[in-house]
Amino acid sequence: MTFSKATEGVVSMGQTMPGKAAAIKRCPECYTNLPFEISVCPWCNQKIQNKIDKHGYGKKPINWSAYLACFFTWAVAILYIWWAFIKN
Ligand SMILES: [Zn+2]
Repeated sequence: MTFSKATEGVVSMGQTMPGKAAAIKRCPECYTNLPFEISVCPWCNQKIQNKIDKHGYGKKPINWSAYLACFFTWAVAILYIWWAFIKN
């Protein structure tokens, strides 16, 4: 009973937020409030997309080189396991 009431409160609060939160976004790196139009944080140089999540934080652009590095590391690890244990 109390739980559903608390959830209602959160939902209604979230519904009233977008109009107010549209003008600012928060840096996901240093949590500074920034103008919504800004694309790079002046405090920490983090690139921020013109999209905000439900908490008002700007989204970081996807870091493809990090994904690639992660994929490469996994590929090497799997290759090593195959070479060390499965090959013969
Ligand atoms: Zn920042």
